Amino acid sequence: MATEIGHYINGKRIGGQSGRFGDVTNPATGEVTGKVAFATEAEVDQAVQIAKRAQAGWGNMPPLRRQRVMFNLKSLMEKRLDDLARLMVLEHGKTFDDAKGEVGRGLEVVEFACGIGHHMKGDFSEQVATDMDTWSIRQPLGVVAGITPFNFPIMIPCWMGAMAVACGNAFVLKPSEKDPSAPMLLAELFAEAGLPAGVFQVINGDKVAVDALLKHPDVPAISFVGSTAIGEYVYHQGTERNKRVQALCGAKNHMVIMPDADLDQATDALIGAGYGAAGERCMAISVAVAVGDVGDRLLDKLAPRVRALKVGPGIDPQSEMGPLVTRQHRDKVLGYVDQGVKEGAKLVVDGRGLRLQGYENGNFLGGCLFDQVTPDMTIYKDEIFGPVLSMVRSKSFDEAIGLVNDHAYGNGTAIFTRDGDAARAFANQVKIGMVGINVPIPVPVAYHSFGGWKASIFGDHGIYGMEGVRFYTKLKTVTARWPTGIRAGAEFNFRARG
Ligand code: NAD
Repeated sequence: MATEIGHYINGKRIGGQSGRFGDVTNPATGEVTGKVAFATEAEVDQAVQIAKRAQAGWGNMPPLRRQRVMFNLKSLMEKRLDDLARLMVLEHGKTFDDAKGEVGRGLEVVEFACGIGHHMKGDFSEQVATDMDTWSIRQPLGVVAGITPFNFPIMIPCWMGAMAVACGNAFVLKPSEKDPSAPMLLAELFAEAGLPAGVFQVINGDKVAVDALLKHPDVPAISFVGSTAIGEYVYHQGTERNKRVQALCGAKNHMVIMPDADLDQATDALIGAGYGAAGERCMAISVAVAVGDVGDRLLDKLAPRVRALKVGPGIDPQSEMGPLVTRQHRDKVLGYVDQGVKEGAKLVVDGRGLRLQGYENGNFLGGCLFDQVTPDMTIYKDEIFGPVLSMVRSKSFDEAIGLVNDHAYGNGTAIFTRDGDAARAFANQVKIGMVGINVPIPVPVAYHSFGGWKASIFGDHGIYGMEGVRFYTKLKTVTARWPTGIRAGAEFNFRARG
């Protein structure tokens, strides 16, 4: 029996009104486990109006009280960590340990938000002119919305929601329709933590709900994380209506392996970063750039490890890699592997034939490893978002960095080397937002900020950390004096201060 998943509005779960639903499936079995409601424009409006009323009080509350709610949320998320993780395993497919790790990454941002009083505190300059002072403050925007992808159903809503709410906004989340149950539980935890009803709401749905948020005059800011095509659409639609928009998008992350790299470490890094979460991470490594003579040696170590990957249902503690999120997505990834073969890349490990007894209807795909991939191939240009790693051979460091810089995407990258000079040059010259030196997935800790370059982002702000504070607040600067008995007369001209 499929469970009906509605919306979380005004402090409670409610059913959908549209009569339109999407299937939520267990990726390991293919079974339809839920029917998620798709909101109408009117339901989105209802959520926004409730949020608007709730924000008035919440935004005016002392930050100390807002951050106490964040402290409560932190302990509740820790207490319910296994429940949050289990919901993700059942709808997303990732392994249980990986799902718990995801909650941990979301918690980091909640922890950062626990110090929001400090992060929002303004600047004060005394005596900017005689008896005149200036101070700058940051105030919330009002009702802000977040549109999130399927691959991190808890972490990304925390990146946005914890920051938005701690800054004094009300937040309307439109999570992915593929795995909505964990975000619904997150909304309940916010409420249990003491957040007033209406400040964090979940509206489930598809394009209709997204468009309603984009058009809504009472939503001045939109955060989006998802694919580049949809992110670009959201960015244009939102900014055309003078909204503030941050859209973090797709990726094709290269890891450059220099001839002096520790190859055991590099192999471990490629296995974890290429195949962890079945490659469904925006910071997954999907291209290994082997410099000089390192390619053959690396391939000798890598190929047996890819063949030996333990693929199985995420709930099985033995599984290193779970299924892909949907059958449709699995087939799309399979199509890319076929295309790679057709275009002449060498498929060193072919995971296409993988069948798991008892899970014949699951969306499984074994790890795939390509060698001799070239920049003109589709599998090099496109984001595949699956367990497919492409090796590109490069003659020199300069050629390798040229490859990274010429690629359309610019989310993350890494270099593996023992040479500090090469590492420094790489970090300095590479046109990518997040760079790892002997770190394959350089996701910044919560008190730094996350964001790519090029086709991996639209908008000027990264997400969480101080970038999050800046995105979710407006700057106001006050200049004041309290003259007693002095009359300077009308001043028609600017003059230098001091
Ligand atoms: P997606 O773009 O299909 O969906 C993202 C959100 O947009 C979902 O909430 C979805 O319901 C909505 N949406 C989908 N189609 C829409 C349409 N036509 N109009 C309006 N809204 C629409 O992305 P996904 O498949 O859920 O997630 C995977 C993508 O997200 C990958 O490209 C991945 O790289 C990217 N991602 C990026 C980051 C980052 O920080 N840069 C992080 C995680 C995932």
